[in-house]
Amino acid sequence: MKAISFEKHGGPEVLKLGDYPDPVTRPGTVKIDVHAASLNHIDVFLRRGMPGINIPFPHIPGCDAAGVIREVGEGVTGLKAGDRVLMNPSVVCGKCEFCLRGDASMCLEYHLIGETTSGTFCEQLVIPAENAIPIPKSMSFVDAASIPLVFTTAWRMLITRARLRAGEDVLILGATAGVGIACIQIAKVAGARVFAAASSAEKLDLAMKLGADVLIDYSKDDFAKKIRDLTAKRGVDVVVDYVGKDTWVKSLRSLSRGGRLVTCGATTGYNPQEDLRHIFFRQLEVIGSTMGSKNELMAPLNMIVAGRMKPVVGAVYAMKDTADAHRAMEARRVLGKIVIKIRD
Ligand SMILES: [Zn+2]
Repeated sequence: MKAISFEKHGGPEVLKLGDYPDPVTRPGTVKIDVHAASLNHIDVFLRRGMPGINIPFPHIPGCDAAGVIREVGEGVTGLKAGDRVLMNPSVVCGKCEFCLRGDASMCLEYHLIGETTSGTFCEQLVIPAENAIPIPKSMSFVDAASIPLVFTTAWRMLITRARLRAGEDVLILGATAGVGIACIQIAKVAGARVFAAASSAEKLDLAMKLGADVLIDYSKDDFAKKIRDLTAKRGVDVVVDYVGKDTWVKSLRSLSRGGRLVTCGATTGYNPQEDLRHIFFRQLEVIGSTMGSKNELMAPLNMIVAGRMKPVVGAVYAMKDTADAHRAMEARRVLGKIVIKIRD
């Protein structure tokens, strides 16, 4: 089969298209003919190399995929060859303390398919059967491949961790990145008023189309000051900040008393200035969140199938142009998800 892989860490140029042996279907797994795979920031971080994460080379990257089941392994029930599916990237043990209490994304053995194991940028993919989730005919493979990682992350952040409720105000920073697009829509269906912050008029236009109520261009305005002005000095109930270092203190300042700041990443740096006075005097909560459990994928997926939310794909690249797709993501040129088309 054809696959994208890299044999050393580095720039986008380390990504090569080449021939690989076809993977073998094992008991309890399914083999998928991959039609589309999507790109996430984690793919860029893993390609560059991350401290503490050792990847066996050569490595096929990619944590999101959709396609058609080619073959089911021994003992698999409920799925058959020809089924259209998307992949839930989360692998958990099902028996540790955290799995048993229903917090599978805190599993001691939690990992993503494509993180340190072989990923999705390839023509054939073998995954545990429970990770293959059927999709309707009406959903394209390109759309399906763009859903799992970002919608799972956004659902867990806003609904499970930050406990967003109807009538609350939420500020979403980086509102047109993959996770941001999911956050805007989830916050709207939850009944919140959405303040979307992004760095250009074009990005804010997309945020508005997705339902954002108030738009803030934080390349021009101090967003903390703007939030105070727009909320009669009250602040918002929840801030979603995965920007990190550049925005952290302002995010804390944007919160109302008792407000919650939820983070799932730190794309501009992980060591921000902190002012603890904001946290104790105004009784703020700082909440961490990462990925999510299968139910936190199924909830948004069911709403997408029902037409209540939608995936937003900003660009589709051919497999041979995967390095260019990485460049576009690093330059933040694309609004919405970047998808790699593996086959037609
Ligand atoms: Zn576990």
